[in-house]
Amino acid sequence: MTMPTPDTIRASAARTPSLKSKLPAVGTTIFTVMSTLAAEKGAVNLGQGFPDFDCDLKLINAVLDAMNRGLNQYPPMTGVPVLREAIAAKLARLHGHSYNANLEITITAGATQAILTVILAIVHPGDEVIVLEPCYDSYVPNIELAGGTAVRVPLIPGTFRPDFDKISNAITPKTRAIIINSPHNPSGTVWLEADMLKLQDILAPTDVLLISDEVYEHMVFDGQLHYSSARFSGLAARAFIVSSFGKTYHVTGWKVGYVAAPAALSAEFRKVHQFNVFTVNTPVQYGLAAYMADDRPYLDLPAFYQRKRDLFRSGLANTRFKLLPSEGSYFQCVDISKVSDLNEADFCKWLTTEVGVAAIPLSAFYGNGFDQRVVRFCFAKKDETLNTALDRLARL
Ligand code: PMP
Ligand code: GLN
Repeated sequence: MTMPTPDTIRASAARTPSLKSKLPAVGTTIFTVMSTLAAEKGAVNLGQGFPDFDCDLKLINAVLDAMNRGLNQYPPMTGVPVLREAIAAKLARLHGHSYNANLEITITAGATQAILTVILAIVHPGDEVIVLEPCYDSYVPNIELAGGTAVRVPLIPGTFRPDFDKISNAITPKTRAIIINSPHNPSGTVWLEADMLKLQDILAPTDVLLISDEVYEHMVFDGQLHYSSARFSGLAARAFIVSSFGKTYHVTGWKVGYVAAPAALSAEFRKVHQFNVFTVNTPVQYGLAAYMADDRPYLDLPAFYQRKRDLFRSGLANTRFKLLPSEGSYFQCVDISKVSDLNEADFCKWLTTEVGVAAIPLSAFYGNGFDQRVVRFCFAKKDETLNTALDRLARL
């Protein structure tokens, strides 16, 4: 018998045990994949949704001021009171619904954490959660991590408007929640007041909770309004409203957002939140609270982005892409069928590599990879970036 040498003992101790994946079908998100490819190829990145310009210096100074004042330790678990109060006051002013800042507003590490924490707090194994496809790519894995089942209801193909008959038919005794998102990523559609009223009617006789992803709330164009779930008492009573400062103030990397929900729902949310992140970046919270004293940054945002949308659309009008409407968000979808025979994903890779412009395939927002020959561009970019991209796209 040969004795194991110290080396063979070390080698076996260093073996990584195999594990059973909780998300076997999931790879790296399409946003990371396309941003990495864009960087590798030196392409203009109109894929992942984030601005390539900086935020207001006043906001940076407000955060620096908080750091200099020594506000650098753990904040309260639910978020700093001045920020919760500023959010409650804003929701009351804009949507006429009074949230109690102490009991009903919680600061989160961006909307992504907010949505995961809501789902972990409310979804039990075996519960169903309705998602409207195409949808943001974190929703379904979040539901599955909680042991729930995602019930995928398509938005109407072509228009991406909600199909309320299909939504109604998807509700069963197991339905715990429905997730909506307006303004919508990726399609850029915005729900009308009539849509929200219809949803309110459908949910009224049920105990279905609502997760209302409103991260693009201040990017609504052509004089349309953002109809927050907070404006509809029947929806607000069952809603977790999720938003993110990243989108509104051009600071996607700061990862600060919030959840507004009735006290009983917030209490359950906070039970999970405290063991999920516990607290969120203190000086950024104080900086945001100070910056929120001025309404103009978010009131001016629709005009700011509408101008960029129009610049981008007028450039694309000279190409063979077919433009879909962009009523809100910072996304513009185009039909590629007159430009290429490739499927959406291959087209996006080809466009990044050969033309030097990155985009996101809509198929990435569907569980079954549904391909409708449509890709998404993000126009939250400097004019010069958009113009460079347009010059390249004009060659197609
Ligand atoms: N929901 C939607 C629809 C989004 O587009 C995003 C932005 N990636 C998020 C949630 C997440 O926002 P955050 O960056 O604040 O986590
Ligand atoms: N919300 C952004 C998008 O849809 C970025 C999301 C992300 O990188 N996870 O592009």
